[in-house]
Amino acid sequence: MGRSSKDKRDIYYRLAKEEGWRARSAFKLLQLDQEFNLFTGVSRAVDLCAAPGSWSQVLSRKLRGDEAAKNVKIVAVDLQAMAPLPGVTQIQGDITKVSTAQEIIRHFEGQPADLVVCDGAPDVTGLHDVDEYIQAQLLLAALNITSHVLKPGGTFVAKIFRGKDVTLLYSQLKIFFCSVTCAKPRSSRNSSIESFVVCQRYCPPDGYVPNMSNPLLDHCYDVDFNQLDGPNRFIVPFLACGDLSAFDSDRTYPLQLDADTEYRYTHPPQPPICPSYQQACHLRKNNLLSKEGAAVNTSSQSQSKRQL
Ligand code: SAM
Repeated sequence: MGRSSKDKRDIYYRLAKEEGWRARSAFKLLQLDQEFNLFTGVSRAVDLCAAPGSWSQVLSRKLRGDEAAKNVKIVAVDLQAMAPLPGVTQIQGDITKVSTAQEIIRHFEGQPADLVVCDGAPDVTGLHDVDEYIQAQLLLAALNITSHVLKPGGTFVAKIFRGKDVTLLYSQLKIFFCSVTCAKPRSSRNSSIESFVVCQRYCPPDGYVPNMSNPLLDHCYDVDFNQLDGPNRFIVPFLACGDLSAFDSDRTYPLQLDADTEYRYTHPPQPPICPSYQQACHLRKNNLLSKEGAAVNTSSQSQSKRQL
């Protein structure tokens, strides 16, 4: 796929580059904020699974404003290294580790956070059940770490896959938050199972001691959580945020939105700093990918092609 055909594919991808966001996902957080007013009164925020950093960019711009507010602290965590951002402290770490929670708290000088966001996603396999399960694990890890760092009354926003067992996750979140809503921003493709839980007013059960255990792994396997009823079953409202004036992420738009201006390709604001394709390119260029015999075959094949 060529550069401009990729641009044609997705309006939010293009807008992200034009506005200087590192990824199109920035619009998801911006649109969630329009609906839920996420940033009001927030000065300490954590961005879990932050790389390449577009959500951290949103936090930085929204919380620090034009003049960097002195008391604003933003901590971004990811397994991957991330290029620096103004006012954002970065931790390269795993959100399933308690040591990561401790490091976040250390950066806040012992103060809890007002807001935790998590756009975490594992590498998808294409096997839907497996992907949903792994995503659920990551969300629970984010919830666990949040219970270590979030202040009572604080907000937690996280990516969720609305698969068939999502009810269990809603029930678990509802134990910790007075209000849980599942929201789908316009910039999240309709064709994607992805949505976001917006959990407001953190209120852990009396006597709850934060820990990193995983209820899906540590408890009974033979319960059908969709069959829970009465007070054990909580139906989370689903909200499609934004109105029809926003761009439709599943539509293809012409390259020139404005008839008066000529389309110009925009380079990504922040190219990947250590992409794995770099090694693949190096291996291919130096003919190190193929086995010895195959390498000879390939070069003799291309020679005979040239002769033709
Ligand atoms: N919100 C980001 C942005 O706007 O640029 C995009 C996040 S990307 C969709 C998902 C990220 O989750 C990846 O960078 C991946 O490294 C991270 N991730 C997955 N598992 C993780 C874990 N256990 N701990 C920390 N980060 C993790």
